[in-house]
Amino acid sequence: MQSRLSFTEFLHRFPKVDIHYHLLGGVRLTTMLALARQYGVSLPEAEARSYYRAYQAETGERRGGIAALNFLYTLLRRPEDYYRVAREVAEDAHATGIRYIETFWNPSDVCLSYQDVNQALIRACDDAERELGLVMRLIPSINREKAPEEAVAMVDAMLEHPHPYVLGIGIDYKEQQAPVEGFWKAYRLARRHGYRLTAHCSEFGLHWRNVETGLDLIGVDRIDHGYTVIDNPELAARCARQGVPFTVVPSNTYYLSQWPERETWRRRHPIRKMAELGLTIVPCTDDWHMHNTNGAELYRVMVEEFGFDLDGIRQCMLNGIEASWAPETLKARWRSAWPAEFDQLRAALAVEPVIPPERHVRYRLPCAIA
Ligand SMILES: [Zn+2]
Repeated sequence: MQSRLSFTEFLHRFPKVDIHYHLLGGVRLTTMLALARQYGVSLPEAEARSYYRAYQAETGERRGGIAALNFLYTLLRRPEDYYRVAREVAEDAHATGIRYIETFWNPSDVCLSYQDVNQALIRACDDAERELGLVMRLIPSINREKAPEEAVAMVDAMLEHPHPYVLGIGIDYKEQQAPVEGFWKAYRLARRHGYRLTAHCSEFGLHWRNVETGLDLIGVDRIDHGYTVIDNPELAARCARQGVPFTVVPSNTYYLSQWPERETWRRRHPIRKMAELGLTIVPCTDDWHMHNTNGAELYRVMVEEFGFDLDGIRQCMLNGIEASWAPETLKARWRSAWPAEFDQLRAALAVEPVIPPERHVRYRLPCAIA
């Protein structure tokens, strides 16, 4: 064990999961440009950059994450393209200490058949695991801007082509006009066949009732985002008691635009309050390259911006194990290995980050397992 580890190195090395990861949000800029070239699609570099948060200030143009996903689905035309993207996703994640990914993709949006894409992704999962030791699993996700019948068709395709790497279903895209209850039929069908369920609920500052509906009417196993649960203390207390996992995203666009001043944003982001209420939160990247984040940056924000200490980060790591849909044997192995690995790396830190007392979030679940 090397001594004097920098905090950045620590963030890149401690083991972690990312279970809220949109596959297409992880497409590298260079890959988007290469795909456009390959298919003769006119895509000036400035336009490509306008999809990526890292370059939006410089290009003066800003295209939202959903516009990027819509565009990318038209550029991915062969199974090999999906294979390439998934392999690159695994490589990038591996470089920041991520050991396990559950990735969303939207079968209703692809130019290919469900099975063609699924097989390419499964091949990428196998190769990533063999070459990098990173385990990647799949969550077909409903595009809620489309009709609920398309969601049922998605589950039908999953049932027609089952594979153990396909763990469950999710729902994403714009929630404003399409709360989760409209998609009950697809969810019920998936549940009946043993799939796990998750849903983007109460993102974009939308009412907490979407979390409640997700839990009580749809019966989801976890919630993606769910920030406004903090507005309903009773619901939040229940979720804390039951250990409902929330995948939370420090780089979430809505809160960055809500409070463009850094100080307000870092103080008022609901992730802090969710922790203080004892909720089981799992920090995730959501749209890796599009939102200019990664598995290490994610946790830097948790510490340096939101004020979590390293005990809190360790708790988030443990939450990720429990919230994942990985097989129990794998989870048992992580439970016994990861805390020790985290503690060793922490002991090797040159300097532990100092959290100003006025911003300090003390996060340790009462039922912490290790
Ligand atoms: Zn998302």
